[in-house]
Amino acid sequence: MADHLMHNYAPLPVTFVRGEGAWLWDADDRRYLDALSGVAVCGLGHAHPAIAGAVAEQARTLVHTSNWYHIAKQETLAAKLTTIAGMDNAFFCNSGAEANEAAIKLARLHGRQKQIDTPTIVVMDGSFHGRTMATLTATGNPKVQAGFEPLLPGFVHVPYNDVDAIEQLAAEGNDIVAIMVEPITGEGGIRIPADDYLPQLRRLCDAHDWLLIADEIQTGMGRTGQWFAFQHSDIQPDVMTLAKGLGNGVPIGACLARGRAAGLFQPGQHGSTYGGNPLVCAAALAVLETIEHEHLAARAGWLGQHMLNRLHESLAQTPGVIECRGKGLMLAVELDRPCGELMQQALERGLLINVTAGNVVRLLPPLILSDEEAEQIINGVSELIKGFLA
Ligand code: PLP
Repeated sequence: MADHLMHNYAPLPVTFVRGEGAWLWDADDRRYLDALSGVAVCGLGHAHPAIAGAVAEQARTLVHTSNWYHIAKQETLAAKLTTIAGMDNAFFCNSGAEANEAAIKLARLHGRQKQIDTPTIVVMDGSFHGRTMATLTATGNPKVQAGFEPLLPGFVHVPYNDVDAIEQLAAEGNDIVAIMVEPITGEGGIRIPADDYLPQLRRLCDAHDWLLIADEIQTGMGRTGQWFAFQHSDIQPDVMTLAKGLGNGVPIGACLARGRAAGLFQPGQHGSTYGGNPLVCAAALAVLETIEHEHLAARAGWLGQHMLNRLHESLAQTPGVIECRGKGLMLAVELDRPCGELMQQALERGLLINVTAGNVVRLLPPLILSDEEAEQIINGVSELIKGFLA
């Protein structure tokens, strides 16, 4: 059957048929502990009753009408999201890449308003922003771009966590209109910048009238211990993008804006047929309520810190381990060699993990993880890595 799928994925040899909480089951009823959450998507775990209930009820009531009409749940969701994010308004779409496309279009409109004909967005080496032409151009990974040239004009890459490089660009007086940044890189290997990195970017944006765009698609929705990772610093972005954990698996993305950025789109300048329909908004509203009522962001913060401490204890002295790092439930163990095969080895032991950037074991477990499950993940991952490096 897979013969009829394009060959853009290389799936591991397993098919899951159901899930519950942090667990997935295959067709032979073998269970797997999920330390990946569908790549930071199912933050509330699988088959969460609140989400399942909200989706089922909405499916029985009204799935889709289009954005030609008001959508009450979309307006409620926008109000709640903007309140917790300190933003002014929201546009809803279906994925992270689309959320970033909206952000890029806002940046270009901002440039046009300033009479800049070739608006340029500063983006980071090692970043990941998506697979559409604009977002793969923004992405700082040549592997994602290879074969798809010509890339789009209007992006300039600088090293991550390097404020001087941007200062230099500003001094050269080119047509910069925005900085787009992941507060912690996800696909790029869970790289955590200096504490003053985002504040410095904010300062530069204020000084030059640029927009600060935070890509919170992987870091958002409580995963790092705050609703959004920028909230660890004392700053506000002008634009923020979300997807992944916002719908817990129901496809929804969002681009939130503030201040001048919130007034840039005029009717007809952007849109999406499905974006923010009643079904996905019902799911996202249930996600927000659940994270809030169950205090899951705070839980992600302290459980993640505990898991990181445990990773340090068990792996920091192991030859071949370069670093254990993380924030909340975004955890990484960087090895001194490529280790892609660990995903298959973990699968064989009933554990789902990921390897990113070639040599970084990445853990993105659900926020509802129990203490025992957290311990199981740490023990499993430590054994696996020690065996691999031995
Ligand atoms: N931005 C970041 C930081 C991501 O991690 C991802 C996906 O991994 C994306 C954007 C793209 O999101 P999507 O795959 O939903 O288009």
